[in-house]
Amino acid sequence: MKNITAITVLALTIFCSLSTFAQEDKDKLSDFERYKLRQRQNLEEFVQNREAHLKRLEQDYKNYLKGLSSLQAEYEKNDEPEKAEMVKDMIEYEKTIRKNTNHELTDEDFEDDSEKDKAKIQPAKVKTAKSEEKGKPKVEKQKKVEKPNASKSSKEKPEKQEPETIIENVEELTPKNDADPYTPNLVPLPESASRITSPFGTRMHPVLKREMKHNGVDFGSPMNTKTYAAANGRVTVAQYSKSFGNFIMIEHENGYVTVYAHLESMSVKPGDVVKKGDEIALSGNTGRSTGPHLHYEIRLDGTPIDPDDYLTQQL
Ligand SMILES: [Zn+2]
Repeated sequence: MKNITAITVLALTIFCSLSTFAQEDKDKLSDFERYKLRQRQNLEEFVQNREAHLKRLEQDYKNYLKGLSSLQAEYEKNDEPEKAEMVKDMIEYEKTIRKNTNHELTDEDFEDDSEKDKAKIQPAKVKTAKSEEKGKPKVEKQKKVEKPNASKSSKEKPEKQEPETIIENVEELTPKNDADPYTPNLVPLPESASRITSPFGTRMHPVLKREMKHNGVDFGSPMNTKTYAAANGRVTVAQYSKSFGNFIMIEHENGYVTVYAHLESMSVKPGDVVKKGDEIALSGNTGRSTGPHLHYEIRLDGTPIDPDDYLTQQL
């Protein structure tokens, strides 16, 4: 009898331990399944966020172009030829960049939409639309959207959910792979000269003294600072602009181009193949510049994006 009891207890013990193991295994498996699901969701979320982010930047840029042409018209109308000329030069610069990225701009890109409907709309309405347009272009400052607020307000206004939930994970949009020679993630200046003095986004234009979109970042680099190619690529433009001075554009892989402006001198020419870190120029103060600095842009499929998201590698 004792033996039977002992065997039963032993059997029960073994059974219990086995089922505990089985349960643990099951938990582990479901944890792993959950992990996999979460990762998949994160990736989808990431892709969606990035697409929405890029769409937003593209729209900002379109608004900027339309804003430029209406600003030029405004200065002409107000008999401010110097300022009108400045804006015209900025338009020329955009045309040059875009032509060389195979995303050539057309007259339509500069057409004010409110002008199109002028004939159909009452004059008062046109005026309102125009004054609204003047406030543009505006860029949403990244990282400013807070999750709780976004979800709260998205409940109230479901149609606004999409624009408010994007750009939460800007850090995740940043390529971190320093070994990648094709992504422009190298800071284009030596560390001592690479402090950003004016970020990407809407700012007070230093010369025109009005709010305008800044399509790149400014590094406060002293005169004649060595300037490097941010990634492997091919030089497509090396010329002078009245607005941006001597500037170089390099075409990289996957739709990326980088632009380096207000240069003192340029040591490459169109057609040259460059490697990440190659010296391409000396920074300066040419064009309409209020002091020595490097104006640096990254464009993706023609649209300016925030270079600060990419600056992960220092020479
Ligand atoms: Zn700048």
